[in-house]
Amino acid sequence: MTQDELRELYRELILDHARSPRHFGKLNNVSHMAEGINPLCGDKLKLYFRIGENKVIEDATFEGSGCAISVASASLLTDTVIGLTTCQAMDYFSAISELLVGTRSDAAGDKADVDLGKLKALQGVREFPARVKCATLAWHGLHSAIQQRNAPVSTE
Ligand code: ZN
Repeated sequence: MTQDELRELYRELILDHARSPRHFGKLNNVSHMAEGINPLCGDKLKLYFRIGENKVIEDATFEGSGCAISVASASLLTDTVIGLTTCQAMDYFSAISELLVGTRSDAAGDKADVDLGKLKALQGVREFPARVKCATLAWHGLHSAIQQRNAPVSTE
C-alpha cells in the first residue's frame, strides 16, 4: 500500500467515525466521567465510563459536539477502551500522546507495547499542529476520568 493509499484509508476511517460516532450518548451507572474542552476549536466533549471493581472498563460513551477530528477521536477511543483494564487504557493514552505529540506520558509507567491498530488513523493530524489538540482532547478526558480528577480538562 502506498503512502497516499494509506492516507486515504485513514481519512475515510476518520470521516466514518465523525459521521457515525460509536458509543455516542449517555451511559447508565457511570463510575468515572470527564469533560474536555478545546477552546481553540470549540470542541466540547463529555466522556462517561463504567469501571468495575476489577478495574475493567465495562462500558464507555461520550457526548457533546466538536469538529470531525475530535468526534472521530472520541469514537475511536470508546471503541478501543471497552473491555480493557484502566492500566491498559493508560498505555493507549501514552501511545497516542507519543504518536501525536511525540512525547510519551509517564502516566503509564514503563514503555508498553501497544498495538494502535486503527488509532493510527489519527496520526494524519501531525501535519496540522492546530488540530493535534482536537485529536488528543478525548484522550486527556480518559486520563482525567481514570485519575478521578473532576475538574474539566482544557487543552489550554
Ligand atoms: Zn476540533
